[in-house]
Amino acid sequence: MAAQALLGPDTGNQLWFSYRVWRDSRRCVGGAILLVGFTRLVLSHHTTFFINSLAHVWGSQPYTEKNTARDNGVLAFMTFGEGYHNFHHIFENDYRNGIRWWQFDPTKWLIKTASWLGLAEKLRVTPEEKIEKARATMQLQRATQKLSNKPNATHRLQILQQEYDTLVAKMADYYTLKKQLLALERDKFREKVEKAELSQQYQDLKLRFHQQKRSWQVLTAKYAS
Ligand SMILES: [Zn+2]
Repeated sequence: MAAQALLGPDTGNQLWFSYRVWRDSRRCVGGAILLVGFTRLVLSHHTTFFINSLAHVWGSQPYTEKNTARDNGVLAFMTFGEGYHNFHHIFENDYRNGIRWWQFDPTKWLIKTASWLGLAEKLRVTPEEKIEKARATMQLQRATQKLSNKPNATHRLQILQQEYDTLVAKMADYYTLKKQLLALERDKFREKVEKAELSQQYQDLKLRFHQQKRSWQVLTAKYAS
């Protein structure tokens, strides 16, 4: 009001009006930012919860039926990979969701890239044998259920169980040997590195020794003369 008195009624009013517009617009921007932030939060939470619940209803269960989680390629596409939810629930420590090369899992790719850049380490991966066994066990369960509904299925059920047992036994043999081979290769690699380090050290010491020998000869020759 003091400005109004100094500058005359019109200029004063205009200034007062401009100030109010400025003040209100600031409030508006603040409100808009709050509103946008709140909407984003609500939307992202709802989408997450919605997709999380869909991932327990819609899709396949290749690894387990002990929980309701399902693998679903479409949901995986919308959730950056988390749609491979059946795998995620049974092997929850694994950093991956989609384990096949063709499965869309950008979260896995991001974590893997971070590990190459030194930003993540000790990524947990479920042993292949465990994953294969889970899948075979699910197949056995499904086939058993289907056969059980048919008449005179006892013999076929026996064959099914026997074949499963043989599969699991051969699986164990294969993965045990694979592990041993990998360990051997790791040892060989370590030996190679150690050998390379030793031979580098050897070359350095050889050079230093020869240099010292030369300067020793120069010195003794000088003092003897
Ligand atoms: Zn879940």
